[in-house]
Amino acid sequence: MGGGVFGTEEALRRKGSVPSRRGGGGGISNFERDPVSRRFLKTLLREFAFRPSRRLGQNFLCDRRIRDTFVERAAVDGEFVLEIGPGLGALTRRLVEKADSVVGVEKSRHLLAPLKFVLEGQRRFHLIEKDVLALKREEIAGWGEPVVVGNLPYSVTTPILFRFLEEELPWKRLVVTVQEEVGKRILARPGRSTYGALTIAVRLRAEVRKILSIPPSAFYPVPEVRSTVLEITPLERRWRRSGTEEILKKIFSRRRKTFRNAVSGIEGGDAAMEKAGINPTLRPEEIDIERYRRFLGFVLSEGSSWRRRESPGSERAESRIKSAEI
Ligand code: SAM
Repeated sequence: MGGGVFGTEEALRRKGSVPSRRGGGGGISNFERDPVSRRFLKTLLREFAFRPSRRLGQNFLCDRRIRDTFVERAAVDGEFVLEIGPGLGALTRRLVEKADSVVGVEKSRHLLAPLKFVLEGQRRFHLIEKDVLALKREEIAGWGEPVVVGNLPYSVTTPILFRFLEEELPWKRLVVTVQEEVGKRILARPGRSTYGALTIAVRLRAEVRKILSIPPSAFYPVPEVRSTVLEITPLERRWRRSGTEEILKKIFSRRRKTFRNAVSGIEGGDAAMEKAGINPTLRPEEIDIERYRRFLGFVLSEGSSWRRRESPGSERAESRIKSAEI
C-alpha cells in the first residue's frame, strides 16, 4: 500500500485528482472523495499499489455523467440495493445517496482498502467480502428483496444472472451492465441469429429492457467492447422447471435443423411439440417464447422422466453449471 489514508489524500491533491486548496493540501472532504474520474482512479490505484485484473473484469467506471444516468434510471430511491462488485465505489457513491441501504459483495480482497477509503463515513453501506456465486440467501436475509445493481464482471455474467433468475437469491429487479453482445442475445427477437437458448432461458422468467448504452471509454482500463445496461424484472408467473437450460441448449445446438429434428433426441419432445402447436418444419430460432413456454411445460411436467432423473440435492448445482455454459 502507498502512504496510507493521509498519504493518499495528499497524492490525490498533488496530482490534481481533486482541486487544490489555497495554502496547500489538507484532508479530502466527503464530497471530493468521489472516484468517478480517470485521474482520481489512476492515483487511487497507484497509491494502493493495485493492478486491475482482466480475469475479474476489473474495468472501473470513470464517466460521471454516465454513472449518474445509470443510477437515475435504476430508480433505487428508498430501496435495499445489493451491489455486485462495488470495485472502487464509483456506482456505490451515488447509490448510497439514493437508496435506503446498500450491501456490496466484492470478491477481490485487494480492492477492500481503496474501497473503504472512498466510502469512509457512508453509514448506509455494508460490505460482504465474498464471491457472489457463493453468497447465501441467509447472508442478506432480513433486508428484504433487493434491487440488484452492478457493472458485472464479463466472464461470469451468466452464472451471476442465473443465481437470481433461478431464485437461489432473492431479487426485486436487476439493473446490470453486460457486454453489448450478451445484451443483444437476451433481447433478441425470433428469426435473428442472436435469438437462442440464453434469450429464452432469461425471458421465460423476466421482462427485459435496455436502459443505457455505455462506450468503452467510460471505463478504466478501457475494455474492448461496448456495454449495455439492462433492467430485468421478474414475471409474476415465475418459471421453476429444472432441466430448462439443458433442453434449450440441446435444441439450439441444432439450430439449422427443423424443430422436429432438433427435438428428436428429447423424450416426449414430439408429443410436446404437437401439444404446444409448433410447426415442425420451422427452425428452432423461428419459434417464439410463448411456444417454448408451452413446449417446455409439457416436456418438464410433473412426473416426466427429465424431472425424475434429477435428485433434489444435485439440482441447483447442476443447473448453475448449465447456465454458466448457456
Ligand atoms: N462497480 C465498479 C465500477 O462500476 O467501477 C466495478 C465494476 S468491475 C466491471 C467488476 C467488479 O466485480 C470488480 O470490482 C471485481 O473485482 C468484482 N468481481 C469480479 N468477480 C466477482 C465475483 N464473482 N463476486 C463479486 N465480485 C466480483
